[in-house]
Amino acid sequence: MARKPSDFKVADVYADWCPGCGDFGIMNGLQMAFADLGLEPHQIVLVSGIGCSGKEPHNVKCYGVHTLHGRTLPFAMGIKAANPNLEVVAIGGDGDGLGIGAGHFVNAGRRDLDMTYIIHNNGVYGLTKGQASPTLRRDVQTKALPRPNINDPVNPIGLALISGFTFAARSYAHDVRHLRDTIKQGVQHKGMAFIECLQPCPSYNNITTKAWYSGEDRKDAQGKPQSRLYKLDEAGFDPVVKDWSEDFKRKVAALEKAQEWGDRIPIGVFYKNELEPTFQERYSKRIPFYISKPPAKQKLCDDNGYSHVDLTQFLEELKTS
Ligand code: SF4
Repeated sequence: MARKPSDFKVADVYADWCPGCGDFGIMNGLQMAFADLGLEPHQIVLVSGIGCSGKEPHNVKCYGVHTLHGRTLPFAMGIKAANPNLEVVAIGGDGDGLGIGAGHFVNAGRRDLDMTYIIHNNGVYGLTKGQASPTLRRDVQTKALPRPNINDPVNPIGLALISGFTFAARSYAHDVRHLRDTIKQGVQHKGMAFIECLQPCPSYNNITTKAWYSGEDRKDAQGKPQSRLYKLDEAGFDPVVKDWSEDFKRKVAALEKAQEWGDRIPIGVFYKNELEPTFQERYSKRIPFYISKPPAKQKLCDDNGYSHVDLTQFLEELKTS
């Protein structure tokens, strides 16, 4: 049965983000992408951390876990490792994923499970009243800061590339069709996909606002705003690694694009490499029945709660691997 975005809406939950928050666009992008991909709600697990973004699983009809601050990825990777047949999407804020969760971010890249991680990037800790997040640029003073930010920012795409993510992309919360298509590409990618989603926070970030991204402050002679965002595919950028010999070149090109900010900000896919074997593929070589009989599908105990995990087959496989 063909699915519609409305099939992924949750009727009895009120989305209590501030009016104009980019989180609404990200919620819509997720619902549209899941519908277009023909997924059923029971096939998807959405895992969030702490922050305004943490409420995404409340508002999308599928399995959901709203977990601890910075621990989005360990939960999500555990779910994917236990049941590789599920479509797992981890979602969190820039503070959650690139501050307290930065170590998990790096290790998620090097593990390369076949799943997706989306970061809402608004440059502030919105839920706790607008402190500078790890992506806020140095010398920028958003309205909750008593003085300009003294620290340099993390570059999310750059960190994803050097950590080993095999898909790195950026989209924008108020371009929902682009976001939908980017999420679809991330979910369909074979390997660990990272998507940075630029997201205005109208309550606490008065610098990178919706009007700033759309260029309301720099109109042309006809009075038309000149958007700061441009699409990499329309600019002829090719992110796909087709042969290992070109991997380094594609990574360098992606890093150069990831440095662009200010008057021209690229969105789209920066890097994509499906030549790398995923965690599931590497693990299946060691445990051949891993996909057909993953841990989540094994019976762990009898009706009285006594374990009857039979490790015989597992131990035999280990001996011969
Ligand atoms: Fe959105 Fe910012 Fe409000 Fe949080 S504080 S809901 S990020 S507008």
